[in-house]
Formats: sequence, C-alpha cells, structure tokens
Amino acid sequence: MQLDQATTEQLRDWETSLTQEYQQFKASGLNLDLTRGKPSAEQLSLSDSINEILNSDLSNESNTDLRNYGGLDGIPECKRLFAGVLGVKPEETLIGGNSSLTLMYMAVQFGLYQGFGDLAKSWNSEGRTVKFLAPVPGYDRHFSVCEHLGIELVPVALKDDGPDMDAVEQLLKSDPTIKGIWCVPRFSNPTGTVYSDQVVDRIAQLGKIASDNFRVFWDNAYAVHSLSNDAPELANLMDSCRKYGTEDSVYLFGSTSKITYAGAGVAFAGMSKANLKAFTHHLGMSQIGPDKINQLRHVRLLKDADGITEHMRQHAAVLKPRFDIVLKHLREGLGGTGMASWNEPQGGYFVSFDTLPGLAKEVVKLAAEAGVKLTPAGATFPYGKDPANSNIRIAPSVPSLEEIDRAMAVFVTCVKLASVKQRLS
Ligand code: PLP
Repeated sequence: MQLDQATTEQLRDWETSLTQEYQQFKASGLNLDLTRGKPSAEQLSLSDSINEILNSDLSNESNTDLRNYGGLDGIPECKRLFAGVLGVKPEETLIGGNSSLTLMYMAVQFGLYQGFGDLAKSWNSEGRTVKFLAPVPGYDRHFSVCEHLGIELVPVALKDDGPDMDAVEQLLKSDPTIKGIWCVPRFSNPTGTVYSDQVVDRIAQLGKIASDNFRVFWDNAYAVHSLSNDAPELANLMDSCRKYGTEDSVYLFGSTSKITYAGAGVAFAGMSKANLKAFTHHLGMSQIGPDKINQLRHVRLLKDADGITEHMRQHAAVLKPRFDIVLKHLREGLGGTGMASWNEPQGGYFVSFDTLPGLAKEVVKLAAEAGVKLTPAGATFPYGKDPANSNIRIAPSVPSLEEIDRAMAVFVTCVKLASVKQRLS
C-alpha cells in the first residue's frame, strides 16, 4: 500500500500489525550486524595462497634484496600492476604500505603544512580556514581526516553521475580557501555511484579554475570491485588531465584492502611525475622503505590485469548473493510504498538507503532495539549531520546469507513502522 494514500483507519491497522511483528522480532533475541564495510572471512580466504606463494624465492625484476631498506616508491613490477588499476603510468605510481587512508592522510598533511613541497604555498600559510568539498553522502573517514586536521568540510550533492559539478565549479570560483575535493569515482561509498565520462572530464579541468595548490583526492578504492560483468566503466582521469595540462592537480589512490587482505594488502597512489618526486621525498621523512616482500607476494598472486579481473570475479561470486538478498527485501517490502528509496549498486560494498525525511535515526534505533546493528545515521555526512536525517548505509559483506535475510526482514519492518507512525503523528 502507498503510504500517502492510506486512510487514518488503514494507517492505525497497519501500525498495530507492524508493532506486533516488531515485538516478535524483539523477543527473538537477534544479534545481527550490518555495519561493517570489510571483506568476510570467505573473501579473505580467496587470497590465502599468498602466504606460501614466495616459497623463499625473492627474485625480482631489479634484483634488489627485498629484505632490506629502500625502494621507497615501490618495486617496478608492483608499480606496473597497480598503475593499470589507477589508469596512470608506472612512472607515475607509488606503492605504499597496507593502507591507502594513510597515504591520503599524508597527502592532505603535505598540502596543509608543506604546500606539496613548496612551503610558500602551504595551505595554512594563507592564514585562513582551509576547506574541502565533500560530495554527500560520502565516506566518513575522508571527513574525519579533514576534521582531525582542522579542515572545514563543505558538502556538495552527489548526483547519479557524480558530484554536482555546477555547484563544485561555482564554489571553487568564488572561494579560494577550498583546497581539495574528495572523490570516490567508481562504486562510491556508500551510494555505488560511478562518475560519468562528462563528470570525470570536468573534474580534470578543476585545476584550471582553482589555485595551483588545489588537489582532487581521487580515492578509487573500489576501482575493480564490480558485482557483474556489465558494470559501468570509469573514464581515465589522468588522460583527461593530460588533455588540459592539469596533471599536477590530482592525487589518485587505491589499495588491495578489498582485493587480498584488508589488514595486509598494499596501497598505491598515482600522480604526476613532479608530484611523485615531492611526495616521495615527504614520505622519506617518515620511513626508509615499505614492505617490498608484500609487494612481491601481491605481484605473484595477482600477476596482471587479467589476474585481478579473475580474482575479483571470485569476490563478486561471494558478494553478489548478499546484495541480492538486501535488494529483494527492499523491493518486496518497500517497493511502491513511498516510504523509502535506495540505490541498486553494480559494485562496491554498500547499499545506500534513504528513509522519508527525519526518520533515519529512529529506524537505526528501532533496529538496534530489535538486535540489528546499523551504521549510525548521519555517518555518511560531515560532522555526522545528515540535514535530512534520512540516509542509512547498509553493509552486507560480512554477515552470512541467512543473517542478512533475517536482518533485512527486521530492517524493513522498522522502516515501515517508523513511516506509518510519522504519518499518523
Ligand atoms: N576509501 C574508501 C572509499 C573506503 O571505503 C575504504 C574502506 O572502507 C578505504 C578507502 C580504506 O582503504 P585502506 O584500507 O586502503 O586504507
């Protein structure tokens, strides 16, 4: 039934039956968790051969002793492998430790305090609050990097084809204190959005509008994480930048956290040769060299672009049925009710769900009281504040199929109950 067409009497009946259903869930002592955007044990096991793969053979392309210090920007074969994921040249690639978030944090710090190698251009030397554009809903840890470093976040809407570029361009033209923008261009967290070719092309031109110490933080965390073979591709940002001469305005990031091991993968970054030289120097102040043995293990496991595609197909086989259950519950339980909207992602790790305005916190609370843990409402917005109080991030990778099935039944009931109660109030 459509919520806004129900009579008061129908709504009251609905409320009674939903309350009964909800109380039954509550009494059944559930303990389910849809919060964790991390790979399941089954997914991690897909890479377990990485532990034996070297078999004491540390021979590598440049014949260096990988057990020793050095190789700050990574071993050549690993650069080649992940340059392809980011769509840059191997000589524009840096391989880091196990976390791309660390590289992103360091890059933001580098701009803030060191002006990307030109102290006179450090953001904080301008003596004004530094700002970043934050497409919303977005990834909470991007926001916390900025919050931690005292950078103000300016939300811009994330549309179906990427950030609202009219707003982005307008803001950049009118406010020189905006020094960066966060982008998750393929299967973004949490909406699953893939930026269109036109949006990628406009982002490549931001370096012409903004000051020369502005950077696009292009976090391609889900670059190869399709759930189906026909998922949309992403245009190549660096190629567009070459067209406009804006290569220095972008930093690209990625990692194998959701390809091999989230806790023991490799992170990588792509940037112009000038940026790479400066950033590597900066990195060298905090370490003498990364774990090159892990880099070699990753090359032996994944081999090449085809190897990555095949490996990701195995991940999709584990993940896709989980997403299917979530979507089945949403379609069957809430489709046509006018109570909610959600995305149907073709990759990534999340389903982004919107309640009617003002209900996300209530739904999360109701679900928690019935034993289903959801990501706190607001987490997908800077400072934890969703102005519409409607977005909820659903992360189905870790629970079993049966657990997702039960958790989603509870979730749908909570959404319906909260919506009917709101309509009656
Ligand atoms: N970027 C995005 C968009 C993510 O969703 C995540 C993890 O959920 C990360 C980065 C974390 O990456 P890493 O494990 O390489 O630090």
